[in-house]
Amino acid sequence: MFKYILLGVDGSEHALRAARTAGELARLTGAELRVVVSFDPVPPYLGEPFLDRAMSDRLKSADEILKPALKVIGDIPGELHTEVLEGPAGEAILNVADARKSDLIIMGTRGLGRLATLLVGSQSQKVISNATCPVLLVR
Ligand code: ATP
Ligand code: MG
Repeated sequence: MFKYILLGVDGSEHALRAARTAGELARLTGAELRVVVSFDPVPPYLGEPFLDRAMSDRLKSADEILKPALKVIGDIPGELHTEVLEGPAGEAILNVADARKSDLIIMGTRGLGRLATLLVGSQSQKVISNATCPVLLVR
């Protein structure tokens, strides 16, 4: 059924719930799972050594976000990949889904945003409005 699943994580509880579902689906289907986290681009005008510092801070944050997600996903039979992306998450996820021919995108309904009244976060909204493959939003 699904062969290439794409999961977006941002360090939120919602994303961890999405990660749990992604792990379960990957075990059921044997699909490859690609876990991505996106950050605002590092402004190139920063210059050395601030640019280096900003980049390494980013990789450290990515690690802190990816680690718990991978733990929740658990062992899966297919390939497991992680990617650190730049730019608004929705757009970055749509681009990767396109490039990697993802056949299912999994995200949380919401993320780290503070608007608890929001039904669906802006990045999830962007993806469900523009994706060319099925999207699963986990509550
Ligand atoms: P908003 O960002 O609009 O204030 P929010 O943070 O509550 O609201 P979203 O950002 O749309 O909602 O988050 C919904 C889901 O999108 C998250 O659970 C996660 O799966 C994914 N997501 C959000 N931000 C990122 C990111 N930086 N990298 C990867 N995935 C992300
Ligand atoms: Mg957000």
